[in-house]
Amino acid sequence: MTTASYPDTRLLIDNEWCDAASGKTLNVINPATGKPIGRVAHAGIADLDRALEAAQRGFQAWRKVPANERAAIMRKAAGLVRERAADIARVLTQEQGKPFVEARGEVLAGADIIEWFADEGRRVYGRIVPSRNLNAQQLVIKEPVGPVAAFTPWNFPINQIVRKLGAALASGCSFLVKAPEETPASPAALLQAFVDAGVPKGTVGLVFGDPAEISSYLIPHPIIRKVTFTGSTPVGKQLAAMAGAHMKRATMELGGHAPVIVAEDADIALAVKASGAAKFRNAGQVCISPTRFLVHNSIREEFAKAMVKHAESLKLGDGLAEGTTLGPLANARRLTAMAKVIEDARATGATVATGGERVGGEGNFFAPTVLTDVSLSADVFNNEPFGPIAAIRGFDKIEDAIAEANRLPYGLAGYAYTQSIKNLHLLSHQLEVGMLWVNQPATPTPEMPFGGVKDSGYGSEGGPEAMEAYLVTKAVSVTAV
Ligand code: NAD
Repeated sequence: MTTASYPDTRLLIDNEWCDAASGKTLNVINPATGKPIGRVAHAGIADLDRALEAAQRGFQAWRKVPANERAAIMRKAAGLVRERAADIARVLTQEQGKPFVEARGEVLAGADIIEWFADEGRRVYGRIVPSRNLNAQQLVIKEPVGPVAAFTPWNFPINQIVRKLGAALASGCSFLVKAPEETPASPAALLQAFVDAGVPKGTVGLVFGDPAEISSYLIPHPIIRKVTFTGSTPVGKQLAAMAGAHMKRATMELGGHAPVIVAEDADIALAVKASGAAKFRNAGQVCISPTRFLVHNSIREEFAKAMVKHAESLKLGDGLAEGTTLGPLANARRLTAMAKVIEDARATGATVATGGERVGGEGNFFAPTVLTDVSLSADVFNNEPFGPIAAIRGFDKIEDAIAEANRLPYGLAGYAYTQSIKNLHLLSHQLEVGMLWVNQPATPTPEMPFGGVKDSGYGSEGGPEAMEAYLVTKAVSVTAV
């Protein structure tokens, strides 16, 4: 299983796979071995110009396809993704590191998201507004915004694309994505399914290259009407500013620093099982990863012990190896970042209850880590760690835990474990987050809004709100003469 083949990735322009005009390519590294496994084409401006023109033609063709036919093509693509799930997942694990079971789950969830949006596209209703003049009719029409430029990260190479792609295509937009250079082949397999399902030429496009060069060319470009980005808050702020300067619609899915509030009356076993699984999924490289564990002081030690036991039960290894439950970090710079976080936590008084170091000399393996007695000034309690680190701190009053949760500028996900209605009421009204999961793991279904507040960005990538992001509203008043 660990010797699976891995394809090189080219650019997708006008439904054709092609090399960059310059012939330039980049290495793709397997994070489990640190060794190159393939190459990805590196687009230059000439390639971007071709991709933009294709996206413009694709938009003109796709917007004319009736919504039910668009839905049928999208459903066909989702079916192909499902059929190919095991193959796509094998490629995803090799380039990204996550265990095969997680990769396969991501691909299948991607198919589900595409299907949900396919159906939602059939329900893009306008409205008829009663007119003041009985000879006139007032219509509100929803139209696709136009060609979309999307920028997606390496932590969920499929999932981060489908939430944008699904809503864009269902709305009638064409979609040009700069997918991650670290994990290019699974996005290519995803888009291949749309080509095979019969989208008109140029409806979807895929490029790779220098992220800053591509975003600073595509965002201001007059062909692009909408920008959508998932990634870190600092980069999101730069891209949002660029989109604003060029009056482009924008959706920003940025970093988070999710609080997990475990109240005095919580079911501790449930809290550890659900939040432990969520913490170490994808080695913690998840924007909604539980990060600041705020645990009532009366149960803090019991909770910490159980979390250590959970962390130590994980099997670290190559994602394609049988039984692996925790893969390597996706790239070598995350190892350096983790080492800094741990050093700072120690220096600010935290105890490393388990883990805290790199494992082995090959590949980006980092031990699942639990930190206790973490200080509020510790880096891990202030900046998104984006790694397999659970940082625990006690509290005495639920109001203090809520204040701590809201202290940071982030506001993406939040979690809570409690059986008290009073706590539930306080938490659901006072936590400054875009998504809150209580007594359960995160279940980001396509039918529910997905997005953050404050520095975690704006816009939603789930539910009907996600469609709105790709639609413009036109008011039409017609008088019969
Ligand atoms: P980074 O900030 O350099 O990049 C984050 C993502 O943005 C990458 O996919 C990158 O290709 C892209 N990017 C960077 N500069 C860009 C630009 N000028 N134009 C367009 N795209 C650009 O960080 P990184 O080392 O890749 O990841 C580390 C941090 O990024 C993490 O700590 C985490 O906070 C954040 N991140 C968040 C998510 C998420 O799901 N929200 C995903 C991946 C990374």
